[in-house]
Amino acid sequence: MKTRAAVATAPQTDLEIRDVELDAPRADELQVRIVASGVCHTDAIVRDQWYPVPLPSVLGHEGAGIVEAVGSDVQGFKAGDKVVLGPAYCGRCEQCLAGHPMFCVNFYDRNFGGGRADGSKSFSDDSGEISSHFFGQSSFAEHTNVVASGAVKVPDDAPLDLLGPLGCGIMTGSGAVLNVLQPQPGSSVAVFGTGAVGMSGMLAAKAAGATTIIMVDIVPERLEFAKELGATHTVNSKETDPVEAIKEITGGGVEYALDTTGVPPVFAQMTKSLATRGHGALVGAAKLGTEAPFDIGTLLLSGIKISMVVEGDAVPQEFIPRLIALHAAGTFPFDKLTKSYAFEDINQAFADSANGTTLKPIIVF
Ligand code: NAD
Ligand code: ZN
Repeated sequence: MKTRAAVATAPQTDLEIRDVELDAPRADELQVRIVASGVCHTDAIVRDQWYPVPLPSVLGHEGAGIVEAVGSDVQGFKAGDKVVLGPAYCGRCEQCLAGHPMFCVNFYDRNFGGGRADGSKSFSDDSGEISSHFFGQSSFAEHTNVVASGAVKVPDDAPLDLLGPLGCGIMTGSGAVLNVLQPQPGSSVAVFGTGAVGMSGMLAAKAAGATTIIMVDIVPERLEFAKELGATHTVNSKETDPVEAIKEITGGGVEYALDTTGVPPVFAQMTKSLATRGHGALVGAAKLGTEAPFDIGTLLLSGIKISMVVEGDAVPQEFIPRLIALHAAGTFPFDKLTKSYAFEDINQAFADSANGTTLKPIIVF
């Protein structure tokens, strides 16, 4: 069928909205009419080839839409179902079977491979094939074929123009906190980076009952906004040493911490700001090969734990409905992070995300 898609063609270059051909969904796929798709920092770094997804490519991995066709092997979905799209995973490896599909041993190939497992691509135009199946979905398109096992069915009255980011950015920050760090009520949490991922982590920490929530960033407006959304303390790490500040606020160190920046010196700050037997998690992405300094001499005695976390270590089919329920109950107001853009304005959405004026852009088709 004919559809329209935003195509990434080269690093640091605007996406091109093109008329493209979409092939038929395979037996294990759904064809979905995308209603809205969030824009994540990961779309920008893949456009810029930090991860070498073959270009040209249709990116987008926070899609929400309506099922239009169902592959012959797919069970549990019918045309007309509303879905939020999560990452692809094989469902058969030891990590998937152990309940950690975001650590699927085939995760990289399935999500960054540029097409289906058999090498085929869903999109093409006169210039040739265009990479598809980014995170199993390539949601910057009016219609797309998605891996059915990554789709999450949501209620008929669910607001699809809002929910796409639950499939990546929002799930990443909140899942790292709720699934991995698991702060106790009354505990202390520090979050480095106040983008959509960090703010989701903050909202999750608040929902979990943490009572000291420290947000660290270098952009004063973002810190101000973090305070409005519930941070008990903010630290501008351009002006103040965040390790000293966190130790002072918490009386010695913070129990749980999250680095959403992927900046090596910030990761080091996180490790140093933890309390004895504290737990820190890294979710911020860095170029492959990036190393961070880590004082193993001093930190051995601290008993701290560090986790590397992909997509909040969530099972999206279980976790996304819980986030929707928390949002409906008013305890997880992630809608305050979002701003809508028309499809034609997708490059403006990327620019506003990069320059920090919008935390979580959502493209509405
Ligand atoms: P963002 O760019 O909106 O937020 C990053 C924040 O970090 C910004 O507010 C920025 O000012 C702040 N920052 C940058 N350098 C800093 C420094 N030196 N000290 C303190 N703060 C600093 O991005 P986002 O959408 O919130 O995503 C955050 C990261 O998470 C990105 O790297 C993204 O690629 C990654 N990500 C990872 C996963 C995963 O599965 N692990 C999933 C989604 C996104
Ligand atoms: Zn993402």
